[in-house]
Amino acid sequence: MPELPEVEITARRLDAALRGARIESALAPGINALKTFDPPLSDLDGREILGVRRQGKHLIVEVEGRPHPDGSPQPLALLIHLMSAGRLQLYDKRAGPRDRTSRLLVRVRLASEGGTEAELRLREFGSKQAAWVKLLRAEELEQEQALATLGPEAWPDPGGRDRLKELLDAPRPLHTMLRDQRTIAGIGRSWVDEILWEARLSPYKRGADLEADEAQRLHEAIVGTLGVAIEHYEQAVTLPIPDKLPMPLKVHRHEGELCPRCQATLQAVHFEDYVIAYCPACQTEGRVLKDRRLSRLLK
Ligand SMILES: [Zn+2]
Repeated sequence: MPELPEVEITARRLDAALRGARIESALAPGINALKTFDPPLSDLDGREILGVRRQGKHLIVEVEGRPHPDGSPQPLALLIHLMSAGRLQLYDKRAGPRDRTSRLLVRVRLASEGGTEAELRLREFGSKQAAWVKLLRAEELEQEQALATLGPEAWPDPGGRDRLKELLDAPRPLHTMLRDQRTIAGIGRSWVDEILWEARLSPYKRGADLEADEAQRLHEAIVGTLGVAIEHYEQAVTLPIPDKLPMPLKVHRHEGELCPRCQATLQAVHFEDYVIAYCPACQTEGRVLKDRRLSRLLK
C-alpha cells in the first residue's frame, strides 16, 4: 500500500526528525528481513544519521562513515522496501515487550538526548513477510539492482508528455505498465486507479495506442494526482506516523459508489491480489469490464 506519496511523506517526516541524531544500537529481530550480512548491522552503532530520502517506493536512511585505515570514510545506507504492509515509524518511547498488531523487523535505538528514548521501528502488518532491508556501503547503494532498474520518478516529473509516450510505447495495458517500477517508479495499485480516472483513460488501453492528447492528460494526471496527495499528507500527517495514512482516494476502494465527476456508478475488476476500480462513463465509453471473479462465480 505505501506508494510514492506515502513513502515521500514518511521520508520527509523522518528526515526532519532524524537528521543529526546518533544511533545507539540497531537490531533486526525479523527473521529474513535483513538481506545483507556485510557490513553487520552493529556497524551502525554510534554513528550519526545524515538524512532520510525516497527513491521510487524505497526509503534510504543515510548514515555517516568512519575514517577507514585507508583514510576514506564509507557512508552507510539502510535501503528499505516496505512492500504492501511495512511501516517505518519513529516513536519517542522504546518498544514494550509485546506488539500484537504487527511484527518488528528492525529496531534502531537513538542515543538518548534530554531524557528522550526515541526508536525507529520497521514493522510489518498481515501474515506475509515481504518488507526487506539491506545495509549497504555508499558505493554498493549505487550498484544496487533494486534502484538501478527503476524507471524515471513518476513525481515531480517523469519527463514531459513525449517522454511518457516513449516510456509507455508497448502493447501492454496502462494499468500494468504504470505499476511496473522499471517503466516508471512510484505508482502502485491504489494510485494507478486515481491517475487513470483523472486522465479519463481505460485501465486496459494499451500504452502503444496512446494519442498525443491522451499522453498529455496522463502526464498531467500522474504529476497532479501524486502532487495533491503529497500536499494532503503535508497537512494531515505528523509524527508519529500512523499505521494507516489518511489516503485521499476518490475511486480506488470506492466501487459501487458514485463517480465524483459524472455520478455514474464506479465499477471494479477483481484479481487475486488487487482490484481495479474505474468509472465506465468517464473511462471506458460506458462499457463495464468483465469481472473475472464474478464470471467465475457464475460458471
Ligand atoms: Zn465518471
